Amino acid sequence: MVVILDGKRLRNKILEGLKFEVECFDKKPSLAVILVGNDTASQIYVNSKKKTAEGLGIESKVYTYPDDVLEDTILEKIKELNEDSTVNAILVQLPLPEHINKQKVINAIAPEKDVDCFTLENTGKLFAGLEPNAYPCTPQGVLFLLDEYGINLDGKHVVVIGRSNLVGRPMGQMALMRNATVTICHSHTKNLESITKTADVLISAVGEVLIEDDMMKDDCVVIDVGISRGENGKIRGDVNFETVSKKVAYISPVPGGVGPMTIASLMVNTVKLYKEQIKRSL
Ligand code: NAD
Repeated sequence: MVVILDGKRLRNKILEGLKFEVECFDKKPSLAVILVGNDTASQIYVNSKKKTAEGLGIESKVYTYPDDVLEDTILEKIKELNEDSTVNAILVQLPLPEHINKQKVINAIAPEKDVDCFTLENTGKLFAGLEPNAYPCTPQGVLFLLDEYGINLDGKHVVVIGRSNLVGRPMGQMALMRNATVTICHSHTKNLESITKTADVLISAVGEVLIEDDMMKDDCVVIDVGISRGENGKIRGDVNFETVSKKVAYISPVPGGVGPMTIASLMVNTVKLYKEQIKRSL
């Protein structure tokens, strides 16, 4: 019988704990989000992050800019937020418009306020096997979910599909740090199926439906990070949930799996950065 990895339930549990913790603080933690352009999905994500933060007593400020904003304007705002001691965490919502140098912008965030492990200093630490100021939200959320269900990665073959800096790469590295044997697949991978069939844990972060039930072992743990919209406008993952859920041991649904965990992870990181900054200021 398949176990559904319930991200909503775990998110609620994590947020409940955080709310209690934040209530005990002398001043509110604060998260600043920079949103450029009018990408509907980004606006929905940012609103949801703001609402969740405020529900916990975390102050959330969203700075919105039009599509044609100058790169310097964003860099100037980041500098201001870096210097503002009342701001503990900074997130630049991706994607950014083409004319903005994404790497330059995200690397301008002060590493101690870098809530999604974007900066070169924090990613450098992560890939050196050291602890960054905060772990990247989505991969960390996946690990929270696996931990909740007692799924240990030590010695397991973890196959990650996707090699973005946001999800695939850090996911692979964080699984490696848990002593997994890791294979990262991507759009140039040949015979994907022959690799996924050897996975103990299969994590897909692509954005199109590509995982079918003949691509894995029966006892596989399947984590679906992908988000796309079907022809009916409904949100779906990378995995054919209908058929795969009848076969495997564990599966995370979309929606209700990794998505809620990413938000929970962002809140965990905001509180973590807040506490570290308070400690440093004493
Ligand atoms: P991305 O577009 O940067 O990366 C997609 C990756 O998929 C690339 O590395 C590419 O090589 C790989 N890929 C594309 N086609 C492939 C194929 N046919 N076979 C194998 N690999 C293929 O996207 P991203 O930012 O890494 O996000 C991936 C997905 O995860 C998206 O759907 C995104 O919306 C979703 N996402 C979800 C959450 C969440 O909280 N659930 C968070 C972040 C991203």
